[in-house]
Amino acid sequence: MRQELDEEAFRARRERLVDGLAHRGYVTSPDVLEAMKAVRRHLFVPERLRPDAYDDRPLDIGEGQTISAPHMVGIMAEKLDLGPGQRVLEIGGGSGYHAAVAAHIVGPTGRVFSVERIAPLAGRARRNLEEAGYSKTVTMVVGDGTLGLPEHAPYDRIFVAAASPCVPPPLFEQLREGGKMLVPVGDVYLGQELVMVDKHNGRPVTTEHGGCVFVPLIGVHGFRR
Ligand code: SAH
Repeated sequence: MRQELDEEAFRARRERLVDGLAHRGYVTSPDVLEAMKAVRRHLFVPERLRPDAYDDRPLDIGEGQTISAPHMVGIMAEKLDLGPGQRVLEIGGGSGYHAAVAAHIVGPTGRVFSVERIAPLAGRARRNLEEAGYSKTVTMVVGDGTLGLPEHAPYDRIFVAAASPCVPPPLFEQLREGGKMLVPVGDVYLGQELVMVDKHNGRPVTTEHGGCVFVPLIGVHGFRR
């Protein structure tokens, strides 16, 4: 009973948060708004932070990492033009929340692969995804995502949920022709620019999509520490 009441209260807060994102113009796509209303973000944060799960800000998920702010998840999903049936690669799985939103949009015929460098976070993310109902669509892998995930390539969409000094070359190689990739590129302390790379006739077409702040991408084609 207690739990049902909590779920209802969380649902009301979630609706308010997502309506706010639409109202402020962050997200306009009905598919993205619907996915964000469906995915229970409180299942992806540590229990003590559940009361804050529907604030529009990043939250601590342990190991020095954060779950991204809802507006950033919405903005990235919309810019990437995620849609049913797509094969998606995420780098920086964290809590699994962003992957769950992508999974909701790609639906049962799509697939989401997510690479997370820190094994305990990946383990927790798998449990979160199971509880939230997305474990059939999302595969969480432990590894250095700057190398991509060649065994399941090519991908229709790729996004990096951490700040990178450059667009890691293996990710571009693993992107399908006509595909889109979104990477926060820049300095960890001074902030980053959201960079979109479209693969057009085998070549990168790059556009910039505004400032953002992410934790560092650490790996062979990322920061060294
Ligand atoms: N998308 C996540 C938030 C990610 S925070 C969510 O929705 O909760 C960024 C994550 O990137 C952190 O968990 C960090 O450990 C991870 N990360 C950093 N460098 C990485 C790399 N080279 N490969 C995979 N994951 C990496």
